Amino acid sequence: MQTIETIIELHKAREAITGRVGAVYTMGALHKGHLALIEQARAENDQVIATIFVNPTQFAPQEDFSTYPRSLEQDLQLLRDAKVDVVFNPLTEIMYPPNYQTYVEVGEIARGLEGMRRPGFFRGVATIVTKLLNLTEPHNVYFGQKDAQQVAVIKQMVRDLNYSLKVIVCPTVRDEDGLALSSRNAYLDKNQRRAAPVLYRALQAAADLYEKGERTPKALRLAAQKVLIAEPTVEMEYVSAADAVTLNELFEATEKPLLLSMAVRVGKARLIDNLVLPAALNNRDDLTRILGGA
Ligand code: AMP
Repeated sequence: MQTIETIIELHKAREAITGRVGAVYTMGALHKGHLALIEQARAENDQVIATIFVNPTQFAPQEDFSTYPRSLEQDLQLLRDAKVDVVFNPLTEIMYPPNYQTYVEVGEIARGLEGMRRPGFFRGVATIVTKLLNLTEPHNVYFGQKDAQQVAVIKQMVRDLNYSLKVIVCPTVRDEDGLALSSRNAYLDKNQRRAAPVLYRALQAAADLYEKGERTPKALRLAAQKVLIAEPTVEMEYVSAADAVTLNELFEATEKPLLLSMAVRVGKARLIDNLVLPAALNNRDDLTRILGGA
């Protein structure tokens, strides 16, 4: 495995690759969710490029950039074990040198949900992903369902900016109790960790109702909210039932695929989770096709 920290070296490494390239972009503190993306990339490409970069432009001033978990040595070992070919791990100054001035802004699809609660977040994400796409030139790029709006924003950007590559979505990897794996779970103390699977239980409650035939978005949101509210350790930020293609909030019953998503605060951690309804659609091929459209 080649570990690279500079743009020049990365250009050289990329030029030397002849086969098909799969890319996985991460902020490190790797867990099995990241590794599922790498595994999928490994299975479908000749070479795999992974990146580890905690991207400052996607954090608001009051957010956790400085305390975000970092475990580089362990991450590199995990990537080595996963047979990654190239790891790009640049310093902040390499990606954003002094006098850096260019940002990528995606429109409507980036404005609701997470975009509304985290102003500037998707501008930072779209900017770093653009830079990483330009640097790694993948044929296939892998993103996790856990960040469902991110997938939709990136797909929109890939279409709008005419990248010829495929965005592939990997289903959310969860702990045994249903908690979606996240680097930010490291912020949870024992009691908070015990409470955190309430997100998954809330999603399941709405999914059960959907399964029984309920299609009214308000009823589905309420079912999830009821479960969240019953857990005092968790402070609900929002529960949304949106069109899984456009991410527009829904108010009328529909048979179209829904994205049921939520954010909560548990202590220092802000946790998000989602499920696509009908629940049978939470697999790689359907998620890849549906989230944010084809
Ligand atoms: P991050 O390091 O949090 O920026 O995540 C890097 C990539 O891993 C993103 O595409 C995430 O959506 C994906 N990811 C993070 N957690 C999970 C998970 N539990 N299951 C699947 N993918 C995930």
